[in-house]
Amino acid sequence: MQLPVYLDNNATTPVDPRVLDEMLPYFTQNFGNAASRTHIFGWIAEEAVEHARQQLASLINAHPKEIVFTSGATESINLALKGVYEMYASKGNHIITCATEHKAVLDTCKHLEKSGAEVTYLPVKFDGRIDLAELEKSIRSSTILIAIMYANNEIGVVQPIKEIAAFARQHNVLFFCDAAQAVGKIPVDVIEDDISLLSLSAHKIYGPKGVGALYVRRKNPRVRLTAQMDGGGHENNMRSGTLNVPGIVGFGKACEICMQEMNAESIRLKNLRDKLEKSLVELNNVYVNGSIEFRLPHVTNLSFNKIAANRLMMSFNKNIAVSSGSACTSALVEPSYVLKALGLSDERANASLRFGLGRFTTEEQIDYAIKEISKNVQKLHSELSSL
Ligand SMILES: *Cc1c(COP(=O)(O)O)cnc(C)c1O
Repeated sequence: MQLPVYLDNNATTPVDPRVLDEMLPYFTQNFGNAASRTHIFGWIAEEAVEHARQQLASLINAHPKEIVFTSGATESINLALKGVYEMYASKGNHIITCATEHKAVLDTCKHLEKSGAEVTYLPVKFDGRIDLAELEKSIRSSTILIAIMYANNEIGVVQPIKEIAAFARQHNVLFFCDAAQAVGKIPVDVIEDDISLLSLSAHKIYGPKGVGALYVRRKNPRVRLTAQMDGGGHENNMRSGTLNVPGIVGFGKACEICMQEMNAESIRLKNLRDKLEKSLVELNNVYVNGSIEFRLPHVTNLSFNKIAANRLMMSFNKNIAVSSGSACTSALVEPSYVLKALGLSDERANASLRFGLGRFTTEEQIDYAIKEISKNVQKLHSELSSL
């Protein structure tokens, strides 16, 4: 069995060997610049990029011309939010987002507030989903954009995307969706889901780090953006800079594999996730954080009553790689803002761990994790109760 057991696939995933194989020739013999129009080196690179664009578009049911390649979801989010804010300034300055969004969304919104934007940060219910009635109350005549993620990176909770999209359309407001955790894991369809802009990232779906994309709807309505990177006018003037051809080729292949294997993979991982979750919840005082019904199949976020996540991780740290949402800033442990937004106490938030299973997780590894974690939880609980 492979040790340590990697259960932090929400943070990043390993590159699938099939993806790497596709990429390798584009570092060496096929090294051309996709923008070189005068020779075969450029044409080969351009053809590879256009093939990848098609692979991405297929996975989310978009048109290839609606895909803008970037350096990752963070850049795509910046381009979407800042690009829309600047382009639609004459229409209004109000953006609606949510308290549990990724920092890339929240910090970009904070940045825009400094340049005059008004931002509503919707709260979430105890299950981690927004309240549609709250969304309705927050809409203004100056609202230009609703930015709500598809699935949360810490708790895996899936938002009511179709309902949000219908509301946005009814009010003639654009809908941006950060789908970095959802694409390739559950069906995402920009037409069915009626999304105006959508961000995705290669390294969350077994592709390389440092490459991402933004879907920008071309019709009904056509979404326009102010570019955030000026230069040679690449990517239809929306994102200048020489394209990362090997990265893009890998991203395309990663999408193709997800398209073929997502259904079977999500069933396999859901079974393993449920086995892990069920075994751990059977221990005393272990709870699932966030909606059980509306969430990604490979994720569970558990709180281990009163046992500090850092202590628990230390007890098996070398053999099991998981994450606690909390960030240690100097000596202080800051509880996860996502778990706090669900209404969890600091103590319970600090006693929480995120488990993210992935393509290369085996049943043997899950059995090992169950045994190892159960043993340590029981030990730490009995130490606590003997205090
Ligand atoms: C990972 C992630 C991002 C950032 O993606 P990068 O490609 O690493 O910049 C943004 N949003 C969510 C929900 C994520 O999980």
